Amino acid sequence: MLPSSVMFKASPMLLSHLAPLENFGHSLKTVAYLFRPSTTEQIVELFRLAERENLTIGLRGSGRTYGDGALNAGHIVLDIRRMNRILEWNPHTGVIKAEPGVTLQQLWQYVLEDGWWPPVVSGTQFPTLAGALGMNIHGKNNWRAGTLGEHVLAFTALLPNGQEITCTPNENSELFYAIISSAGLLGVFTSLTLKLKRLYSGNVRVSAWAVPNLREMLTDLDQFKNEHDYIVGWLDGLAGGNGLGRGQIHGADYLHADEDPQAARTLRLDYQNLPDTFFGFVPKASLWFLMQFFTNNFGTALVNTAKYAQSRFLEHQKQYIQSLVAFNFLLDYVPGWEKAYGPGGLIQYQSFVPLETANAAWAEMLRLTQRRGLPTSLGVTKRHRPDKFLFTHAVNGYSLAMDFKVTRSNRAKLQQMANEMNEIVLQAGGRFYFAKDSTLTPEAAARYLGPETLQRFAALKAQCDPQERLQTGLYRRVLKPILVTMKQSVSR
Ligand SMILES: Cc1cc2nc3c(=O)[nH]c(=O)nc-3n(C[C@H](O)[C@H](O)[C@H](O)COP(=O)(O)OP(=O)(O)OC[C@H]3O[C@@H](n4cnc5c(N)ncnc54)[C@H](O)[C@@H]3O)c2cc1C
Repeated sequence: MLPSSVMFKASPMLLSHLAPLENFGHSLKTVAYLFRPSTTEQIVELFRLAERENLTIGLRGSGRTYGDGALNAGHIVLDIRRMNRILEWNPHTGVIKAEPGVTLQQLWQYVLEDGWWPPVVSGTQFPTLAGALGMNIHGKNNWRAGTLGEHVLAFTALLPNGQEITCTPNENSELFYAIISSAGLLGVFTSLTLKLKRLYSGNVRVSAWAVPNLREMLTDLDQFKNEHDYIVGWLDGLAGGNGLGRGQIHGADYLHADEDPQAARTLRLDYQNLPDTFFGFVPKASLWFLMQFFTNNFGTALVNTAKYAQSRFLEHQKQYIQSLVAFNFLLDYVPGWEKAYGPGGLIQYQSFVPLETANAAWAEMLRLTQRRGLPTSLGVTKRHRPDKFLFTHAVNGYSLAMDFKVTRSNRAKLQQMANEMNEIVLQAGGRFYFAKDSTLTPEAAARYLGPETLQRFAALKAQCDPQERLQTGLYRRVLKPILVTMKQSVSR
């Protein structure tokens, strides 16, 4: 929501840029001065404008972040999607240099026919490279491939002080590992160079199996993590008793050279593109409307029961071939699916918990959501490995992402429940992910990030952005209060 303290500037030029902006889940509504620069020089100019007008700047890609990480109510937002050119491409080495607004979709569509694929993708293909690296996304292959940041060879970034720097894992290394993952709060990516993944087919071989409870879900995600390139679980958040945390696991594998006699066809765009209709006649664009009837607890229970029965009796231990796009971007099958959650939208609560403590923590958490009458409408589990980035969300363990419908009457209850879940995660030694967060308190964030990370962030913020020009809702809600408390405790 727009804070009541926000005052809009009277300048007609600025007023002409006022635009409503929301988070992906449509649970937050803001108004900001929206600019869409197409060059680095224009970004430099916008920093000057912000300084003159005493405004802050929030960076935004495709706005696929679930919470307030790409919002900046009452201030300037830079939407970088017009900076979307591929700058260099070497189809022999798989090294690509691109502008920050290139999306994952644009990237795979550009390189697929040469036999390459982004090494890490999120569950949707619409994020930009800058947005994806601002948060340092992971995919269903996090255990095998790490985060997207681990495949970046170099990037250039504009700092709020006007300096443009080049970072690689060896040059300006501290900033390399900090600007990737720091949610657009240290510098603006202006170009990114990545090494892509070699492909011999546009298909993956998928294995599906049902798991009767949470313990077996986690055991299998761990046991089969090295046998599949990708591994992911769907979890039924409404099942209780012995079936608590039951669901289905999908493992998927790239096909090796010579395994796909149709490779020339499966590596083509027309083979990969998702169909416009379901069952050949239901237009996908209208499906979110029908889904509305299944976002309440009763509808979710019906869908989950049917889905689990299907996974247990029809798909158990089945293998099939699926296109890379269909496997990776399942959620893109239904455009605008998030609108099915109604005017209050949805939030996602994702926690990352170590191997040893995940089962007990999430069993407690699932029971809590059921007791509160706020079970998740969609639960997704993955296996993760740690990484070296400043605001890393990963652990040697698992993640559980849970979607919740937000309504006017449950908003406060959801926040209260999130606070209780935070305590469970923190007690279990777990972490959180800014891309998915809308409920973290500064206290909870300070506990999972720890003093060393926070001191490094404070020092880098002072070095790169001493006037705190780069800000977002997330910064003001979570990080700034922590920095203020740290300063106060030093001066005491
Ligand atoms: C359906 C769905 C599925 C998803 N699945 C996954 C998943 O599997 N794994 C995962 O990790 N995430 C997942 N996400 C989250 C999503 O991938 C991230 O939030 C990603 O950051 C979105 O990119 P974006 O381009 O939309 O960026 P935005 O959401 O617009 O911005 C993301 C961050 O990047 C910063 N930023 C933007 N531009 C720049 C720039 N030029 N320089 C520096 N920083 C910048 C912003 O300030 C912001 O903090 C999913 C999201 C959705 C909606």
